[in-house]
Amino acid sequence: MNDQPLVRARNVHKNYGNHEVLKGIDLDVYPGEVVVILGPSGSGKSTFLRCINHLEEMNQGTIMIGDQQIGYELRRGKLYHLPPKRIARQRRDIGMVFQQFNLYPHMTVLQNIIEAPVGVHGHSRGEAERYAHELLRTVGLSDKADAYPRHLSGGQQQRVAIARALAIRPKLMLFDEPTSALDPELVGEVLSTMRNLAEQGLTMVVVTHEIGFAREAADRVVFMDGGNIIEQGSPDDVLVHPRHARTRAFLSRFI
Ligand code: ADP
Ligand code: MG
Repeated sequence: MNDQPLVRARNVHKNYGNHEVLKGIDLDVYPGEVVVILGPSGSGKSTFLRCINHLEEMNQGTIMIGDQQIGYELRRGKLYHLPPKRIARQRRDIGMVFQQFNLYPHMTVLQNIIEAPVGVHGHSRGEAERYAHELLRTVGLSDKADAYPRHLSGGQQQRVAIARALAIRPKLMLFDEPTSALDPELVGEVLSTMRNLAEQGLTMVVVTHEIGFAREAADRVVFMDGGNIIEQGSPDDVLVHPRHARTRAFLSRFI
């Protein structure tokens, strides 16, 4: 594994009014690493992911993606806040998949996937379509390019959403409870797609309650509670030999 982290979060604080939701998060994610974040509802997992791609503004702290500080630029020793256009450019390196897949209902699967590369990033249509077909093979939906989202199951729609997020060739993928909205019988196909991506070396930060996925696919498991990282380590460290009572209490719900 490369020595230089792809994501370096330091002392990330976020509050909504006087409600402190993130209380100083430090996290490094290395290239090719799969980091699974676990934690009870309301512990700040989604807020932290949204800070990583600047969907939320932090109140304190820094997040570096490679050598770029999210939302800021260093010029002649001074830190400047970036305008929205430049923030959008930083976001190109980051793909995100949400619980709600939100595909465009009036567009085919293929159109959904090429929309950002062609419409936003100015890739040629031919190249975007070629890559979209490759991504559809990756997520196991080669035969669905011309289907409309309403004709797909929830699991298929989420796999299209994953292909759509990959279409901009991100260096980092963020997943926020990607299987939580799915019927139980459709969870497996999405997790297995994510496992394939992990095996291909994609750098991923995954918020999920799927402990089995964490055990099998994570290089590192991070347990958050109350806006803090309580502990982190290998899946064996955190899931089998947790050191903190709060981690044990959380995990006991899944047995
Ligand atoms: P998790 O993803 O771990 O369930 P969240 O990051 O969604 O947690 O939320 C953490 C806390 O922040 C919760 O108490 C939630 O109510 C609060 N929160 C999240 N987003 C907002 C917002 N836009 N405005 C006010 N409070 C928020
Ligand atoms: Mg959440």
